[in-house]
Amino acid sequence: MFDINNLLRDNIKRLVPYSSARDEFQGEASVFLDANENAFGSPLVQAFNRYPDPMQHQVKLRLSQIKGVPARNIFLGNGSDEAIDVLFRSFCNPGVDNVIIVPPTYGMYEVSANINDVAIKKVLLTDGYQLNLEGIAEAIDDNTKLIFICSPNNPTGNSINRDDIETLLANFHGIVVVDEAYINFSRQKTFIQELTEYANLVVLQTLSKAWGLAGLRVGMAFASEEIIEVMNKVKPPYNINEASQTLTLQALANVEQVNAWIKETLEQRDKLVLTLKDMTFVRDIYPSDANFILVKTTDAKGIYNYLVDNGIIVRNRNNVELCEGCLRITIGTPEENNKLIATLQQYQ
Ligand SMILES: *Cc1c(COP(=O)(O)O)cnc(C)c1O
Repeated sequence: MFDINNLLRDNIKRLVPYSSARDEFQGEASVFLDANENAFGSPLVQAFNRYPDPMQHQVKLRLSQIKGVPARNIFLGNGSDEAIDVLFRSFCNPGVDNVIIVPPTYGMYEVSANINDVAIKKVLLTDGYQLNLEGIAEAIDDNTKLIFICSPNNPTGNSINRDDIETLLANFHGIVVVDEAYINFSRQKTFIQELTEYANLVVLQTLSKAWGLAGLRVGMAFASEEIIEVMNKVKPPYNINEASQTLTLQALANVEQVNAWIKETLEQRDKLVLTLKDMTFVRDIYPSDANFILVKTTDAKGIYNYLVDNGIIVRNRNNVELCEGCLRITIGTPEENNKLIATLQQYQ
């Protein structure tokens, strides 16, 4: 059975969170002399002299409507990278606990584990880039707190079989983190509707990819109320700044624009795949549920350098296990994709 008290670090169980000036007051007021702000304003057209809402109520309310998940089940981070770090700091005792990752996958899980001095157990994906459930079961021990699954997976682009993720959720007594950074591009169903089913589920999403807001640094975690409460206790009090909250609210009013871009990205992706697959140096293009494709080539390093010389940067994944010879290519605008194609057609 999942019991959050068996997972939490003792110092976090005991933690009394920072109480900000605005947390301690409720009701109406017009004079705020409680937070040592500059009451005159900001040397800008827009005023940023007041601290932002620590719990981001308005942004969460709007996200709640869009996602169909109650606001109390949403945590906002300074990018989903912050949510990853907060999970480590809440649940993993440095030098004692461990987490499982399933490479090839997103690099921040390992970096965040290293920063927090938390051991990593790696269980490689299968040749078809799916979970090795037996290997994961063998790797789990009494100190395994988190398992990170990225679906659609970065850098391979494919979705992880839903049944396999559910098997993990049903059998692992720690937390299964399902990173859905690319879910907007996928034909697969999100896991955010399963929060009531699985007490040990944390779903990560972000505004950095499909939503086009990477510069604002806003990421989301969806989980049970008890997990969200812990994450809110551990995060820095004002982790989403006022500019990000205001601009995010504006952007969230424009879902139609985002949906149109997603549609165009998928059309561009299909077109790029069709053109690339006939090029002599392309060995394989893996099925993608994301806004990028993983392309196996005869000479990743040579092609990468050739593209750099022509002002085009892709991601060289040649040195990543199970991705030998591979380049990860983000789908750009039609003009950018055409330039990529024209440049590659000149490659000998
Ligand atoms: C890009 C990416 C993120 C990072 O999201 P931020 O919200 O920008 O921090 C998280 N997970 C995966 C798999 C990504 O590819």
